[in-house]
Amino acid sequence: MEKLRLGRTGMMVSKLGFGGIPIQRLSEKEAVAVVKRCLELGVTYLDTANGYTTSEERIGQAVKGQREKLFIATKTGARNREGVQAHLKLSLQRLGVDYIDLYQFHGVSDFKNLDMVLEPDGPLAVAQEAKKAGLVRHIGITSHQMDVAKKAVQSDLFETIMFPFNFITHEAAEELLPLARKHDVGFIAMKPLAGGMLDNATIAFKYLFQFPDVVPIPGIEKISEIEEIVGILEKPREMTTAESREMERLRQELGPRFCHRCDYCQPCTAEIPISTVLTSRSFAKRLPPERFFSSFIGTGIDRAANCSECGDCETRCPYHLPIIEMLAEQVKWYRAEKKRYDKLVASRGANKSQP
Ligand code: SF4
Ligand code: SF4
Repeated sequence: MEKLRLGRTGMMVSKLGFGGIPIQRLSEKEAVAVVKRCLELGVTYLDTANGYTTSEERIGQAVKGQREKLFIATKTGARNREGVQAHLKLSLQRLGVDYIDLYQFHGVSDFKNLDMVLEPDGPLAVAQEAKKAGLVRHIGITSHQMDVAKKAVQSDLFETIMFPFNFITHEAAEELLPLARKHDVGFIAMKPLAGGMLDNATIAFKYLFQFPDVVPIPGIEKISEIEEIVGILEKPREMTTAESREMERLRQELGPRFCHRCDYCQPCTAEIPISTVLTSRSFAKRLPPERFFSSFIGTGIDRAANCSECGDCETRCPYHLPIIEMLAEQVKWYRAEKKRYDKLVASRGANKSQP
């Protein structure tokens, strides 16, 4: 597979990466088989995180015997020294490796969080010490928020930036990517399929593959998915006129109701995690149902059900989304799904208790 240079890390990695969220939904055997197939197809960039439950362990099993030729990236959501130390130790152990190629600060969503990462003797210092000790080779950061991502890139303290990038959420192409190039910071595209909202992989990846220095990391759940994407990479990648037209149509159709998770709509006086609620369907696609329904999303939905309809958030949303209406739709959808799920669990319980 084609390789590209990942910014100032100087490392050459596969032009297509592997996103380790969906393998949590699989059995261990299936998950290991999916990762192994990715490696066979030439994927060398593997992305996971401390927060993705079984993902690190499963990747660790799949890479045994081939670790040296791979680039393993993981993340910590901890924002204090002790938390990062504990996460790093656990990641090394779960992955079964002596070092991590890229250690990233996960989901740095606002300036307060960025300051916490940069605190003297804090999280970044821990990663830098680990780098000196050879436990970490490179340090990166991930964010959904443009201003935070830009500041992180400009700080020259991180070797990579991971940011949402697809043909619907494409602000990165105009703003962040040129800045990352200027600072020689490697660019990793999260959500290449808009968190599962885009079904047309050909268009989504042809769009991203036109950027020679961007590594998309689609979450892979099935062997057929990675085979399809590698097929797109290996064939002529220029969009046909029909595909360009379809991309524009999808932009028109999805754009006006697509939450970019930028959080400019905050703060909400009712403390509704607006972006989380609006994108909860994409979490539902990626997480095992028992995890989805027991997660923080339920609390967000309950809060959204109490939206006062003050409209403050709508005035702040740069995409002019009809947030109030969209929240109400999400609440309705979530509650119907939850009812269905509870019924299923109850029927399984009843079957088990039958003699
Ligand atoms: S309209 Fe609802 S979601 Fe928006 S700020 Fe007001 S309470 Fe929060
Ligand atoms: S609702 Fe608008 S402002 Fe809020 S996160 Fe989504 S896109 Fe951003």
